[in-house]
Amino acid sequence: MTKKYYDFEIPKNLIFNTRELIDVLPLKCSVKLDVKNFENILSKTLKLKETIVKLNFTGVGKEILAGGIIEGKISTQCSRCLKEIESEFSEEFYETLSTTAKEIDIMNIIQQTLALANEIQYLCSSECKGLCFICGENQNIKKCKCEEKKQSPFAVLKDKFDKKNKKEK
Ligand SMILES: [Zn+2]
Ligand SMILES: [Zn+2]
Repeated sequence: MTKKYYDFEIPKNLIFNTRELIDVLPLKCSVKLDVKNFENILSKTLKLKETIVKLNFTGVGKEILAGGIIEGKISTQCSRCLKEIESEFSEEFYETLSTTAKEIDIMNIIQQTLALANEIQYLCSSECKGLCFICGENQNIKKCKCEEKKQSPFAVLKDKFDKKNKKEK
């Protein structure tokens, strides 16, 4: 007797036994992810919140197609002004997996997919003016005068050079 999908228990670590999985194909499921699984994957400023993955497995010949959508929220800092922000995300993946492998590690695929979040620049707004490099003032709140006072290092050099030239003449 073949198993039915409702007899099938989704492994908590999302590492599926290939044979058990084949018995219940096609399989659709939705799993809440334990954010602890991603703490080492994401940079320190990124925190996952309320993340789920919707999985869709189908068998095609000697292969299993695994599709997934990871949806959730990430809390982080604006990369310009460091304000705490929350950002929603939705990432998809598609993998073709061989049925000859003993296990199918979906957690690994999810971790690799979420690692891409490290490469993204998160902004509180596309118009964020960021912090002043000199005094650290948040330019969205108060515009400082540093930019006007700032002198290019080349201008200083040019000044010295000019003076030196004058002396030599
Ligand atoms: Zn900002
Ligand atoms: Zn300033």
